[in-house]
Amino acid sequence: MRVLVTGGAGFIGAHLCERLLESGDKVVCLDNFKTGSRDNVKHLRTDKSFEMVKKDLLDPLDFRIDRVFNLACPASPQRYQKDPIGTIKINTIGMIGLLELARRRKARILQASTSEVYGDPLAHPQSEDYWGNVNPIGPRSCYDEGKRIAESLMFAYGAQHRVDIRVARIFNTYGPRMGTDDGRVVSNFIVQALEGNDITVYGDGSQTRSFCYVSDMVEGLCRLMDAENFTGPVNLGNPAEITVLDLARKVKKMTGSASMIRFRPLPTDDPVRRRPDITLAKRKLGWKPKVDLDTGLRKTIDYFRTVLDRG
Ligand code: UDP
Repeated sequence: MRVLVTGGAGFIGAHLCERLLESGDKVVCLDNFKTGSRDNVKHLRTDKSFEMVKKDLLDPLDFRIDRVFNLACPASPQRYQKDPIGTIKINTIGMIGLLELARRRKARILQASTSEVYGDPLAHPQSEDYWGNVNPIGPRSCYDEGKRIAESLMFAYGAQHRVDIRVARIFNTYGPRMGTDDGRVVSNFIVQALEGNDITVYGDGSQTRSFCYVSDMVEGLCRLMDAENFTGPVNLGNPAEITVLDLARKVKKMTGSASMIRFRPLPTDDPVRRRPDITLAKRKLGWKPKVDLDTGLRKTIDYFRTVLDRG
């Protein structure tokens, strides 16, 4: 198979490229390096089956490919809110361009959607039949509404042009290759703890998230791509829920850090609770996460230690 991975130099994208190469696929990795990094894929560049293309999803696209994983979009709230118009464009104009490519090439296309389509959810845990509670004009709307219209586009192309679509709703994911400064909670807490800086808990830290280790996420994405007669949307995430304050305490303990936990204002529209219902993924894909939070955090802490040591 020739597989296009957009956002392939990003955190999840790079792990996915690695995994596809291991299973014998040829990989075209597309990235504009706005949030992705060359470091994430530099070990793959000597592989003859790997091709790196520096391009934006908004540029004209033409590749001879059988499959597309669309992971091209900044996913950290701090990053996607820096350029809200760019975030909307990538999920609308970019999504249409990619769907047209999939249509021309008769390629199967998987969209990396998000738990943010549920917004600040009123249903808990969130299952795929919940339609969400999204503020259409708030600071997160460029991403939330962007990802919602991207799902609509996927299903419109599926219905109108018979494009072979797959939609995964990715919940909070963490692991090696997250950016040290991308602003997400796991990377922030670990880097702060390792550098002896204050650990910044937003609000009172009672909001919850459920964290999935990256190897589990990649496994789920590959299973969905390979599944026959199943489009999704399907939740992929780890249902083990934890408060942000407990996560801060855990990271402080696991790193043996002397950092203080400091409370900072809660960002607008920060979802109060989030936990995936993964019944559908279990049933349709035979998938569930294997790596628990302690094991995953240990590996992630080791990774950040090496990165920070290198300076
Ligand atoms: N958060 C925090 N401190 C940080 C970064 C994030 O307390 O330094 C909180 C944030 O307010 C949210 C949760 O951690 O409630 C997860 O934030 P993240 O940006 O990782 O992703 P989100 O799930 O909000 O998209």
